[in-house]
Amino acid sequence: MAIPTPADNLGELSGYHSPQVDVEVRLNTNESPFQPPPAWSRRVAEATASIDFNRYPDRGYARLRKAIGDQHRIGPDWVFAANGSNEVLQTLFHTYGGSGRTAVLFEPTYAMHRQIAYVTGTSVVAGERDDDMRIPLAEATRVVADASPSLTFVCSPNNPSGTVEPRETVETLVGLDAGLVVVDEAYGQFASWTAADLVDVEVPLVVTRTYSKTWSMAGLRLGYLIGPPEVVAALDARVLPYHLDALKQEAGAIALEFRADMERAVDGIVSERRRVLAALGGVGVETWDSEANFILFRPRVVPGDEVWQALVERSVLVRNCSSWPRLADCLRVTIGTPEENDRFVDALTEVLT
Ligand SMILES: *Cc1c(COP(=O)(O)O)cnc(C)c1O
Repeated sequence: MAIPTPADNLGELSGYHSPQVDVEVRLNTNESPFQPPPAWSRRVAEATASIDFNRYPDRGYARLRKAIGDQHRIGPDWVFAANGSNEVLQTLFHTYGGSGRTAVLFEPTYAMHRQIAYVTGTSVVAGERDDDMRIPLAEATRVVADASPSLTFVCSPNNPSGTVEPRETVETLVGLDAGLVVVDEAYGQFASWTAADLVDVEVPLVVTRTYSKTWSMAGLRLGYLIGPPEVVAALDARVLPYHLDALKQEAGAIALEFRADMERAVDGIVSERRRVLAALGGVGVETWDSEANFILFRPRVVPGDEVWQALVERSVLVRNCSSWPRLADCLRVTIGTPEENDRFVDALTEVLT
């Protein structure tokens, strides 16, 4: 008897890794530097007392669905939620991907789109972003025509570049035979526009969101999409029963009552992002135009690996993207508190000048 070999379905990927190092300033995983409002934690603690933990939760999570729908001024049947937007993405693959089907994405982009495609046996055809990290319309049209995908991913703002696709790109893709167009808006509230307004019946478009970044709740593991009821019903039919536990449903619904706090935190991060971007302009690095809570940058002289290591030695951890395709020498820094951002800028200045 022996443990069987795992299925060979990761392709060239070896799983999602975000190395953690014990440092004082952690700016590597795009989390919010702020805790959620204390009043939210108190309300969740109170709610815990009245949950029937001996019973299965509301399978259709009606209260949470309605609360999310209200935020977007749509009905609950336009909302599908899961344990993080990664699980939303996985459920999309279980529903529209799988063997014999193809997903299109545009590199460099969020690695989990490709990884979940592989794990679900979905083929991947990748288009290339231009040097500004945007999707050229001609490339989008060519790749979609070649691939006949059942799913097309547009990450906007794009991780790891922070760049936003213009509305025209999303509209063009929706007008092509691109299958279901998935706009991953994990960083949507940091950006200047949202594709959520384009969601409509019979339009093959869904927009995914998460509580992990703008809502300061990466530890809650909750994300959702809005899309046509036909799509939501298909996802409902395939996700595991009772996938959203009772406490999370309650915590997620209560969170939305604190939208003003979230928006204030987002505004603060956006102004810090502008400040850090301006500072980076002075230290000899190439940057991309970010509308998220992070900035991709490339030191012009010192190799990316060396800069990453030198920052770690100064107790500042950023994401090392230098070995990723097309991102040679690139690093990605998450916007933290003003003090953390100062530590980062000071350390980088010391390393590069
Ligand atoms: C962080 C991130 C997510 C994952 O979100 P979870 O809701 O925490 O699973 C999804 N998409 C992109 C582009 C991200 O950067």
